Order: sequence, then structure tokens, then C-alpha cells
Amino acid sequence: MNAPTVRMFDYLQQYQAIEHEVLDAVKRVLRSGDLILASEVQRFEENFSAWLGPNVTGVGVANGTDAIVICLKALGVGDGDEVITVANTAVPTVSAIRMAGAIPVFVDVDPETALMDLKQVSFKITEKTRAIIAVHLFGNAVDMPALMAIAKQHRLWVIEDCAQSQGTTLNGQMTGSFGHAAAFSFYPTKNLGAYGDGGLCASSDPEIVKAMRSIRKYGFEDQYYAEREGINSRLDELHAAILNVKLQYLPAALSQRRSLAKAYRENLPATLHHFAATSAVEHAYHLFVVRAAQRDSLRKSLADQGIQTGIHYPFPIHLMRGYQFLGYKPGDLPVTEALGASILSLPMYPELSEADVHRVLDCLHETLD
Ligand SMILES: *Cc1c(COP(=O)(O)O)cnc(C)c1O
Repeated sequence: MNAPTVRMFDYLQQYQAIEHEVLDAVKRVLRSGDLILASEVQRFEENFSAWLGPNVTGVGVANGTDAIVICLKALGVGDGDEVITVANTAVPTVSAIRMAGAIPVFVDVDPETALMDLKQVSFKITEKTRAIIAVHLFGNAVDMPALMAIAKQHRLWVIEDCAQSQGTTLNGQMTGSFGHAAAFSFYPTKNLGAYGDGGLCASSDPEIVKAMRSIRKYGFEDQYYAEREGINSRLDELHAAILNVKLQYLPAALSQRRSLAKAYRENLPATLHHFAATSAVEHAYHLFVVRAAQRDSLRKSLADQGIQTGIHYPFPIHLMRGYQFLGYKPGDLPVTEALGASILSLPMYPELSEADVHRVLDCLHETLD
């Protein structure tokens, strides 16, 4: 008989462990008579903000993409403004910029980290540039003090895309608390995942937070009167209640991710490059990504042994058909373009067993050594 599959992600194990608490929370909401922007959302915003750090206030929204859109709108970034970011990210980072009416401008990434290459940012700044979106990809962290210095010099807003970095710290400070605004996603696979969609935007500036609250609800501050142009993007009470339960388990889940990552790191075949975090970063390991010369055949050997893997991400966004109108061509972002062909995400989620990690490692060694 074949050994059981090692999955990339599985929420069911955690769900089984917390089922009673989750169902109690769901019942509490359904019996409360209050389904929209009520006590559970408020409590989740307080809990999540407290976890992010002093002064930061979170605003619950419908998903991570909307969270980025609302950050941009709350900062007044919109039609025709240029927003600098990377093409080595999840597509929603870019779709959010377009949803706000702005124009994405891509910088290449650093081959050592797969994160925004800060040395190239200033070459992309024009008179139209209004903001920079830093993506803390894989759960690593962009060097925020350095980026904030560049932004300050050019008077630009900085938004942190923290969809993959819930729990990542830099110099002991949480990602999401460095920029002018930050966006989080609670898509099920993220480090803090709902059982469906959810998101949050955050800022430490009360005026920005006020705009975020208003924009998520039709532009209202009081009822039936739009102070500004808004959208509908609410985190619902049911998901907030579930997230309140799951947030309690996030620190343990993060330390489990870190300990599995340590097992991977210490036992990887020498020919696999792992994307390093600097010593100032406590990585949250949303994904554990390596770079391999023979990626496709390696992926197939793993699949043949029942080991699932992923590619984050196979296609650079600037060359996708949907973004052709931006006018990029092959060769514009050489590091980003090369990464897609060589990266591989190994199984990583908190309930994965250390034995499974060693099965993956054994298979890597058998194939590569
Ligand atoms: C998941 C993700 C998003 C979007 O979040 P959704 O909740 O799916 O809208 C944005 N940016 C990055 C880097 C992501 O990984």
C-alpha cells in the first residue's frame, strides 16, 4: 500500500480539534440577532490590533484584495497615480491597484530573498508615483526601515501587503505596523485563515483608520450619507466570531510552522537553495520555498511518492495576458522571470507532522543526492 499523501495544506485537522469552540461561536452569532458589523467584528478588530502592536488599529473587510484597495483609497491614491510594487506576488496585489484606478509599476526582486529589490525602487519613481506596496512574500519581511527612508525622501505612501506575513516580525516589530497602512487576508490557507473569505486593513493614523471604516461601508460615517466614495466590503460577524476563536491558536500555529521550517532548513540537500530571511526577521513561514535547478522533475518525483508541492508563483504578472496593456515585455524583470521556472513550495502547515517533513526530505535526498 502507498504511504498516505503529504498535503500542501489541510484545515480539517485543526478544525476537528476546535470544532466545539467554532460551532459555539457560530451559534452565538446566529442567536444574537446581529449579523453585520456588530460585537464580533469589533472584538476581532480589537484583538487583532492588539496583537499587531501598540497604536495600530484594524478594520475588518471582506477579503485581502479589498483590504489593499481600501488602503489605497484611504490614502487618496487613485485614478492615474502610479504605485510601485513587484510582479513576483499573488495576482491580487496587482488587481487591487487597478481596482483603485491606479497604475502598477513593477520593480524586480532580489534573487536571494525573492522580495522587492530596494536598490531599484528609486529608478521607478516618477512625478505620478504616489505609493509603494511592499509584499512580505512567503512570510519573510521586506526591509521596512530602509523602504520607509526611501518613501520619506520622495514623499510617498507605503502599504504593506501582509497577506502572507501574519506573525512575521522585523527587529521584534510586527509586519503591518511599519507602513502608513497594511492589508491582511484571512483566506483559508493563510497563517490565520477563516472558513471562507475575510480581510483586514490597518493603520496607526486615526484619520486613515476613519477613512478605511467609511470606505468599507459605502462611504458612510453616519447612516445614509456618503462622506466619500465607498464600496461594500465588510468582514461578517460569522467569520469574525470564527477568527476570534482561531486567533487564540495563532501563536502556537506560528511556532509549529517555525519548527517545521527549522527541520527543513537543517536537512535540505545542499543543491537546494532556500530563500533566506535576514537575522532581524522572525519569518512566519506561510510557505516554505526552495529553488531547484531541475524543478519539474523534482516535483514529479515528489508527486510520485504522494507528496504535494506548489509553485508560488509560476507566471510573472507583468507578462500575463490580463496585464499586457501595461506594456511590459520579456526581459524587463529578469530575476522575477527566472524564479517562476525554478521555485518549489514544499508542504507547510501547522498540523503537518515532523515525520511528514522527514518523508519529504528523504524523497528530496533520494532524488538529488
Ligand atoms: C492571498 C493574497 C492576497 C489576497 O487575499 P484575498 O483574501 O485572497 O483577496 C494578496 N496578496 C498576497 C501576497 C496574497 O498572498
